Parts: sequence; structure tokens; C-alpha cells
Amino acid sequence: SEPVLSVENLSLRYRVPGGAIAALRNVSIAVRQGEVLGIAGESGCGKSTLAAAMIDLVGTNAEVTSGVVRLNGRDILALSPVDRRRLRGREIAMVFQDPMTAFSPVLTVGAQLVDFQFNLDGLAGREKWRRARDMLARVGLSDPDHAMGRFPHELSGGMRQRAAIAAALLMRPSVLIADEPTTALDVTMEAQIVHLLRQLQADYRCAIVIVTHHLGVIAELCDRVAVMYAGEVVEEAPVDALFHDPRHPYTRALLACDPARIEAATGRLPAIGGRLPDLSSPPTGCSFADRCGIATDRCRAAPPPRVGLGPDRNALCHEVAP
Ligand code: ATP
Ligand code: MG
Repeated sequence: SEPVLSVENLSLRYRVPGGAIAALRNVSIAVRQGEVLGIAGESGCGKSTLAAAMIDLVGTNAEVTSGVVRLNGRDILALSPVDRRRLRGREIAMVFQDPMTAFSPVLTVGAQLVDFQFNLDGLAGREKWRRARDMLARVGLSDPDHAMGRFPHELSGGMRQRAAIAAALLMRPSVLIADEPTTALDVTMEAQIVHLLRQLQADYRCAIVIVTHHLGVIAELCDRVAVMYAGEVVEEAPVDALFHDPRHPYTRALLACDPARIEAATGRLPAIGGRLPDLSSPPTGCSFADRCGIATDRCRAAPPPRVGLGPDRNALCHEVAP
């Protein structure tokens, strides 16, 4: 089916004193209706930047140097600020690591969930209240009426994240972008939120883009995964294929690092040697070459090709065989 959201050849840099950081380089990725796309990769690889670009929430020092972001067919970067804001919440919504981001500390959860429905002109306040309350029940708050009257800080962390998810889903967006939504939670709570997202996705058929460094969350929740490295998508694959037959050397290293996989073997977490390249002057050749066990002279000299490896599968690598 047609993608609900697609990013095509997107390059973005952050202006910083004395230069610029190439945070995204030629990123192309799409998510279809009802699909869950995971974005994985180590700290600083550009996951949050990509998520923010998808909803056009990048900072003022960010500059898109090429590419388009299409939401339901429309290029959102070309819209006026007013039209963009109208899309947000209605067609696309975001959940962050810190649920307090979604709420003001000085108003009750109920008042804010009602306010978020300002777009629904024809609806009476009472009806908006009911919709809000029902959504809180839907995301698993056991006493939604009580929660409606609470201030955000009066809810537990897990409840607050559920309420933030309710806020995001209130307008039935076709895409939900979630940036590390479980990272601040303990393991039990994390499992509950993952379970909730899966249920909501099944019920509402919204597409979900989830950013996480936790491979367990990817395995549980995602249909397809984009693995990022130094601002590029280095491998894209259906989730089973990614775990059973990772093709890019970086993906292989990343999977070998996941604690869940390592514990059984040695109990230790092997680090990938080396560091991310300097994004203020990205290398000419492959970004991963310096850390890669199979890199050749060609890898250091020339940018790698994107090699098709089957449906929804590709890797950005000189050495991977189609
Ligand atoms: P993490 O896992 O730590 O959240 P990430 O994959 O989400 O990392 P981003 O936050 O997208 O990575 O950052 C990508 C790169 O852009 C990093 O080098 C980061 O330092 C830089 N960066 C991010 N935001 C800004 C900003 N507002 N101004 C300048 N540089 C930024
Ligand atoms: Mg991030």
C-alpha cells in the first residue's frame, strides 16, 4: 500500500559556532498504514533528528539542505507554519521520552486533554471531556475520572506516559512518532507500554515510528527496522530478517552488543571499538569503515552503494552481496 509518511533523500544539518553538523545525510524511509517502523542506532546517530524532521519539529538552528517529507502525500516542509500546525496532532502526533513534555505542569490532565481538541469545533466541552476520559481508560488508567482531575506531576511516571500517549492519540492521527517512549521507565513498565502500543496500533491501525536503542523493544513491536549510523540509514529490513540475518557490518556489531543476546553467552557486553566519525566533516568513503572488521581500501575511498537485498531490504555497503 501507499506510504502514509515518507522521507526522501533528506539531508539536514545543525548550524553550530564555527561550522555545521551533518545530522542526516540522504535519508530515505517510508512507513505504511498500520505499520510499525523502528529506528535504531547508537547515541548521536541522528534518530531523534529524523523523528523530529518527520513532524517538522526540528530546532531553529536546523537547516534542511535537501529532500522532502511527505505526510499523506503532502510535502510538509513546504507548508505554511499555520498549515503545519494544523497537521500536527490531527494527522501526526509525537510521544517523547519525558512525558512532561506533552503537558503543562500548571493545568490538570483533564483540562489539557480537552484543550488538545480545540480543532474539533462542532464538539461541546462535555463531549470533549468524555472523549478525553475514554481515551485515558483506553490507555489503561484504572481510574480515568480521578486522573482527569490530577496535575501531571501527581501521576506516576508510567501513568504519565500513558496519559501522554492518550494525548497523542486523541485526534486519531494516522502516524504516531515515539522517541524513546520507554527509556525513562523501569523494565516492567517498559513491557507494559510496549504492550499498550501494540494494542493501540492493532485497534486504530495508525502507523507508528518508534525510536529506541533497545533492541528488545524493536523485536517486540516493529514490523520493519531502519538502522542508522552517523546520520545515514545503513540497513533497512523486516524485523525478522534483521535479527536472523543482519547484513550490514554495523548491524551485526550492534546485534552482538545487545545485552539480551549477550547475557546467555558470556554475560559481558562487548563494545564496538572506535567512535562515531566527526559529523562536522563526514568521511568521503563509508562512515563505518574505521570501525568495520571487513573494510577495504575501496570502503575508505568511495561512498558505499545502497545494495538492494530483497523486498524492503537494503544495506549501504561496498562489501555486502545482493
Ligand atoms: P540519542 O540516542 O543520544 O538520543 P540520537 O540518535 O537521537 O542520539 P540526535 O539527537 O538526532 O541523535 O543527534 C544527531 C547529531 O546531531 C549529534 O551529533 C548531536 O550532537 C547533534 N545535534 C542534535 N541536536 C542538535 C542541535 N539542536 N544543535 C546542534 N547539534 C545537534
Ligand atoms: Mg535521541
